Amino acid sequence: MLKMTGAAVTHIGQVRKTNQDRVLFSPSVGAVADGMGGHQGGEQAAAITIEILAGLSGQVSKDRFVDTVVAANRAVFEESERPELRGMGTTVVAAALHSEDATITVINVGDSRCYLLRRGELRQITVDHSLVEELVRQGRITEEDARSHPQRNIVTRALGLSDEVEIDVFELDAGHGDRLLLCSDGLFNEVEIDAIAAPLREIDDADLAARSLIDLAVAGGGRDNISVVVLDIVDDGHAEFIREQAESARRPTPKAAAAVFDEVESTSDETPADEPGPDGEGIDQVSVDPRPTDRLPVTDAEEVGDLVDVPESSRGHQPSASSDSRSGGLADDDRLMSEDRGRARWVAMAVIMTFLVAFLGINWFGSSAYFAAEQSGEVVIFRGRPGGILWVDPELEQPTGVAIEDLAPAGVLKLEEELEWTSLEAAIEFVDQLERADPDEAES
Ligand code: MN
Repeated sequence: MLKMTGAAVTHIGQVRKTNQDRVLFSPSVGAVADGMGGHQGGEQAAAITIEILAGLSGQVSKDRFVDTVVAANRAVFEESERPELRGMGTTVVAAALHSEDATITVINVGDSRCYLLRRGELRQITVDHSLVEELVRQGRITEEDARSHPQRNIVTRALGLSDEVEIDVFELDAGHGDRLLLCSDGLFNEVEIDAIAAPLREIDDADLAARSLIDLAVAGGGRDNISVVVLDIVDDGHAEFIREQAESARRPTPKAAAAVFDEVESTSDETPADEPGPDGEGIDQVSVDPRPTDRLPVTDAEEVGDLVDVPESSRGHQPSASSDSRSGGLADDDRLMSEDRGRARWVAMAVIMTFLVAFLGINWFGSSAYFAAEQSGEVVIFRGRPGGILWVDPELEQPTGVAIEDLAPAGVLKLEEELEWTSLEAAIEFVDQLERADPDEAES
């Protein structure tokens, strides 16, 4: 099953007096908010948004994710009624993994960004809602100009400016090894995209990779607050699969037979599964099915009410214990089922081994002898047993050039006994003797 690990880091930069960026990483969601407006306004707007997103826990559906951002917009807008916070707003870029169908939802409002690193290639997922982005799109300035444009901080969309907000929603397939970068403009206005890609490719640890990007932006000038969230998609089933493989390799039983069985299993059992991959995927689907209905009872009204009245309480609102026990139960089921599968595998392997031994034995027995017989008036030597054994029919090994009519009657009688010989030489010798045999000899 896919899960999300990661790290979130923010830095004030070299120039600003306050950090109006806020970041979030939880196993359910990663987010960056870049606040703007007034002395405290920007900080407030970003903090409210991140706190509301931090209230998400467990498996987050796409609808619930979008609803939460809508709620954050409303909460920031309502809070901006206070005179000292008037006009505040914030960008938000956030990502949530849906492990049940292996997809990721990315939400964006404003000019923070989401990038996806997949198989070494870094791709921008979001489109900035900013003045310079529009100028670039109209071909009036280049990407390079945009990074140093005097109006590069002007956003065309943000949370909290009105009671409604237009939200960009991106859906991606998720796979083991995918890495997402969420960042504020304090990173990409200071650091070239190739320089951003390098530590993401080279540094496995998410926290170290994030810190390395912060260092680059600070070194590049740090004219704005800098925020970096690195999210890694990992398949714990993948790890389980590797462990099982290692265990079965250590067992002192015939490996060849195990390999044969694995092949049979992977071609027949797993055909209906969505992806080729670790065994146990089919099982996951079965155990995951009941979850969406389990999870839904949190209503929008409850969520928004909670958050608007007392934003701080949204943290305590996280039912982390229930999500833990749920995933614990799932892991137990997996283990039980994989034990059953393990037992079935050994039984099946024993049956296969028995058949294999019998098959080879019969093949060997059926073709390990030679005998002479008549075919179209000539004595020929067959390899095999007279009349054949099960599916192993005798095969013509060698003609002898001896015609039946040249044989003495005793020789013909002897031939009809269909004596079996253990080697071709012995059979040829026998035919030679038949040729020479005379009636007296045959009778004695
Ligand atoms: Mn910024």
